[in-house]
Amino acid sequence: MRKYEDTYRHKGLRKKLMDILREKGITDEAVLAAMNNIPRHFFLDSAFDEIAYEDRAFPISEGQTISQPYTVAYQTQLLQIKPLDKILEIGTGSIYQATVLAEMGAKVFTIERQKGLFEKTRNYIFKSKYLNLKFFYGDGFEGLPTYAPFDKVIITAAAPMVPPKLLSQLKTGGKMIIPVNSAIENEHQRMLRITKNADGSTSEETFENFSFVPMLPGKQV
Ligand code: SAH
Repeated sequence: MRKYEDTYRHKGLRKKLMDILREKGITDEAVLAAMNNIPRHFFLDSAFDEIAYEDRAFPISEGQTISQPYTVAYQTQLLQIKPLDKILEIGTGSIYQATVLAEMGAKVFTIERQKGLFEKTRNYIFKSKYLNLKFFYGDGFEGLPTYAPFDKVIITAAAPMVPPKLLSQLKTGGKMIIPVNSAIENEHQRMLRITKNADGSTSEETFENFSFVPMLPGKQV
């Protein structure tokens, strides 16, 4: 059994990481407070214990990654979370991003397409702490029609386009944060924030470029 310890050293490194995120331009103190409260090293293999608070992505299992803290902070800031917001996340992965949203008081529905990663959510360390976080095994391109509509949708994998079903599961006035592949190369994605207007149309804002693992169709057993 893995031993989970959040030492003073970890807490100190985490505080420093929050300063780095501030220097990189993250201004939403509610996002930083949530990230400062969550031991990121719990979401990584214990081999990464010493480096868990570097501003880097790391491998998790099944060839996937835990997003870089800057990326998590950036996407979360763009979401403009309000307590009790109903949020759909595509790409559960390590559960770190979903935990940040749950810590901020949102109701989080997160989908993972890889069976192995989904099964790991059964042993989620904060299961009894965040009753506002629910896990689903499925294809994120389909969303969760049964639980729709959502206030916000966040996609944490590189999307080939804006999935129409996810847009239809967004409330009027709702927002989607999505990294979309650029037309010329798939190595980088442009972060978009899409707002659904009252007349059914959408407005689009463009932000920085990021690099995510691909959003893939279908479930993987
Ligand atoms: N939010 C995660 C990031 C994980 S990386 C974290 O905080 O760690 C992206 C994840 O998206 C991977 O686990 C990958 O398996 C998953 N993914 C890719 N395509 C998907 C899809 N269509 N539906 C659901 N999950 C998907």
